[in-house]
Amino acid sequence: MKLATFDAGAGPQTGIIVDEEIVATGLPGTMIDLISSWERLQPELNDIARSGERIALDRVKLLAPVQRPGKIFAIGLNYADHIAESRMDTPENQVWFTKAVTSINGPFDPVEVPSFAPYVDYEAELVAVVGIGGRNISAENAASHVFGYCVGNDVTERMWQHRTPQWSLGKSFDTHAPIGPWITTADEVPDPHSLGLRCLVNGETRQNSNTKHLVFDIWQQIEHLSQAMTLEPGDVIFTGTPGGIGAAMEPRTFLKPGDVVRCEIEALGAIEAPMISVE
Ligand code: ZN
Repeated sequence: MKLATFDAGAGPQTGIIVDEEIVATGLPGTMIDLISSWERLQPELNDIARSGERIALDRVKLLAPVQRPGKIFAIGLNYADHIAESRMDTPENQVWFTKAVTSINGPFDPVEVPSFAPYVDYEAELVAVVGIGGRNISAENAASHVFGYCVGNDVTERMWQHRTPQWSLGKSFDTHAPIGPWITTADEVPDPHSLGLRCLVNGETRQNSNTKHLVFDIWQQIEHLSQAMTLEPGDVIFTGTPGGIGAAMEPRTFLKPGDVVRCEIEALGAIEAPMISVE
């Protein structure tokens, strides 16, 4: 099933994508409420998807499927070609940082290029959304804790990222975590480690890889994160970006207001953001 958060004029609500249309679930609450009660709600949602009134997708505004996750974690240096272009060694331990939950952005909403922090770059990534939470989840059991997957752009301001050893501020500007366009539930993604992913800027391909090249796979990531903390329904995990970032181009090329950044992943859809300047 493909689940979205959308606004048809009366505020955010959850919906089910059916072909090129959307069916409102009619359920109260947010995507996190839906994820938390998934086992109980799934049969009802199957009925709603079959018989509910369909609205054309172009008549609604798609919002970030999880608008306010409890946490957003992202792993750095997790594709060999990106490690090489970053002139780093393959990390022995997983390198994690947080993105502020306020950085969440809709799948087609503008992304800000601040005038005082103009080194804004893209990172197309597969995003895993946690379903059943837990602590000390083993890699063997990790798949049963993923609710679904979506496309993400781990937008990064490189100056703020690198002027301190701790990356989180440079990763946490408002609008710098677009996700979507919807969550494809895990049962429809038989192998999340064999998905083509691409990033295009103004139609030009900048990143073109496959999740089979992840250094630490998603199951290892969940095992590692959940050793430290309790994962909860709706938590968002950015699983790493492949080579091709703007900061590694010759010459270094950052996103400018007016640029359009599209991130797409096989079977999950695409998100697309116009860049805008802010003071
Ligand atoms: Zn990233």
